[in-house]
Amino acid sequence: MGQIVLEQVTKSFGDVTVIPPLDLIIEDGEFTVFVGPSGCGKSTLLRLIAGLEDVTSGEIRIDGTPSATTPPAKRGLAMVFQSYALYPHMTVRKNIAFPLRMAGLDRAEQDRRVEQAAAVLNLTDYLDRRPGQLSGGQRQRVAIGRAIVREPAAFLFDEPLSNLDAALRVGMRLEISELHNRLKTTMIYVTHDQVEAMTMADKIVVLRAGHIEQVGSPLELYKAPRNLFVAGFIGSPR
Ligand code: ADP
Ligand code: MG
Repeated sequence: MGQIVLEQVTKSFGDVTVIPPLDLIIEDGEFTVFVGPSGCGKSTLLRLIAGLEDVTSGEIRIDGTPSATTPPAKRGLAMVFQSYALYPHMTVRKNIAFPLRMAGLDRAEQDRRVEQAAAVLNLTDYLDRRPGQLSGGQRQRVAIGRAIVREPAAFLFDEPLSNLDAALRVGMRLEISELHNRLKTTMIYVTHDQVEAMTMADKIVVLRAGHIEQVGSPLELYKAPRNLFVAGFIGSPR
């Protein structure tokens, strides 16, 4: 569970093409990082996969099922937003349980999943607090918790750490990597930060103006960047 295939996917806004035809296979369990400069289409690509935007043409398949036939909420994907997307008036418990309440799960199952996620994320002692009473890192963990409880086939992260300070970013980076090691769930992580890409990814997808410049492991991109753009972006000695 968790293979994502993009076949000849394009996206235009009006007459502006943001994603020219693009093919990509993300294998089940892989930690894939989309990296590239601001405006290159990273968020658009993630939103297409999540179903928050419709493709203009082409097909996205999740575990073999064409997305077009599946409403976004049923695709088994969970998008992790930046921590400021939390509800300030709700407790941590209610914030994390929110998607489960929307899905109509019974209270006992909600509690079971919330407590399990809280244990994984070291939030057990904070379940009755409100977001305003938490540190930036703890708030980010709550945002991740809200994705975990849905038990998704894949997690989609869109620059989740960009509003944290540098020291906290390093810690959260490690935590997300550990979470991936523990859950072994497919994760797609969008960033414009080369260091995040190089340290977290199994596979890096380097994007430029909506198309893929190169796909490979951090080591492959470092050792054999295909061109100067990739070399410059990855910081390798070409
Ligand atoms: P990134 O996340 O890599 O910074 P985006 O995917 O947000 O890039 O944006 C890619 C391009 O698509 C940009 O030129 C942006 O202005 C454009 N774009 C994104 N969303 C919309 C939209 N809803 N309407 C029109 N243009 C958009
Ligand atoms: Mg973006």
